[in-house]
Amino acid sequence: MNFEDLKLIEPILKALKDQNYKEPTEIQAKSIPLVLSGDDVLGSAQTGTGKTAAFAIPILQHLVKGEQNHQKNRKISSLIVTPTRELAIQIEENFRAYSKYTKLKTTVIFGGVSQHGQTRALSNGIDILVATPGRLLDLMNQGFISINAVKYFVLDEADRMLDMGFIHDIKKIIAKLPKNRQSLFFSATMPQNILDLSRQILVNPEKVAVNAVSSAADTIQQYLYTTNKNNKKELLLHILKDSKLDQVLLFSRTKHGADKIVRNLKKKNINCAAIHGDRNQNQRQRALKDFKDGKIRMLVATDIAARGIDISKLRYVINYDIPNEPETYVHRIGRCGRAGEEGISISICEPEENAYIRDIEKLIKQKLKIISSNPFPQTDQPMTNAEKKEFEKQKQKRKQEFFANRNKKKNQKKSGFKKYRK
Ligand code: AMP
Repeated sequence: MNFEDLKLIEPILKALKDQNYKEPTEIQAKSIPLVLSGDDVLGSAQTGTGKTAAFAIPILQHLVKGEQNHQKNRKISSLIVTPTRELAIQIEENFRAYSKYTKLKTTVIFGGVSQHGQTRALSNGIDILVATPGRLLDLMNQGFISINAVKYFVLDEADRMLDMGFIHDIKKIIAKLPKNRQSLFFSATMPQNILDLSRQILVNPEKVAVNAVSSAADTIQQYLYTTNKNNKKELLLHILKDSKLDQVLLFSRTKHGADKIVRNLKKKNINCAAIHGDRNQNQRQRALKDFKDGKIRMLVATDIAARGIDISKLRYVINYDIPNEPETYVHRIGRCGRAGEEGISISICEPEENAYIRDIEKLIKQKLKIISSNPFPQTDQPMTNAEKKEFEKQKQKRKQEFFANRNKKKNQKKSGFKKYRK
């Protein structure tokens, strides 16, 4: 199938060519016809599947065809709500790219930065608004935004939205939307609370599912180094000696850990930057841009900060620690090998995390490939109480044997000496 088969209009086809998209991804092939025919959609898909274009392309087509693009008096006709700033920025970039040959206007708003630039962009009139929930409500309450003309509403990454505690904000936003609208709802997972929320938003939705979280890892080669805590720093430097690793996203569980890694790498003249919740929006955007532009070799990120980061053609992800939720591992490595590109993940596991690796392997239904040429292999395993008891018993036994042997040798020596003297 190609994009022409989806009956897309010329300006959009041309923009997709500029993007070098050859054919629709699975979620696009399934969703675009449904959205074009006016259905509500409940989509089970995560970032990396091409989900943004799956909703952006048909919405743009609706807007162009519906002649929403009046130059004057524009009203927000499409609202996309997404949980993180990084996702919001990327969705806006995609909308702009796909609509570059139309007159539609898109803007993005998110918290953590001054609202002035955002309200200025809004006051000029826009067709499409991409927003994070908090800032959206804030600007609605201040009277800068009205969503009562929205015809196409998208709730993106619904599960993450709930995890981040946005449920009340979402409900307030939905209450202000006009009843007569088309709604699209995307989530990587579909537990009961997400389905309940979807029922409050969608009317007779068509269901579309691609890439369950456990199969997202299929296209990525996944390697594993097992080591001990005190050797992780050295092992990382050993891994980075390979100059093929020229653009690496490294995950750290904590913000403090991320800063420490960056300090250590900088000491060794490795160009890198951290992105996490304690860095302000400008610092984060700057780091991401430098990384995308190839100015820095490594980006060191925490899970929340990295959520939704889209770096096309990213090949390498390093897990400096192993997440205790196997789904987080799949999300992390899903940052590379996107849209069919080859990806390589390298995980560094210390003894306390061995059990997490077993959980991950169960979820993804495959074994990570252990790297044997490892100068710092794991030397001890965390022990269960029974193992500790057994270990102490054996240690005692070895001690006794040692002394027994030594005494025996001493006695033999003595008796030999005596023999000689005789
Ligand atoms: P998403 O899941 O929306 O975050 O998209 C993941 C990546 O795939 C982004 O870099 C998109 O630009 C890219 N992408 C989306 N659709 C296509 C396509 N049909 N062909 C090639 N790349 C695509």
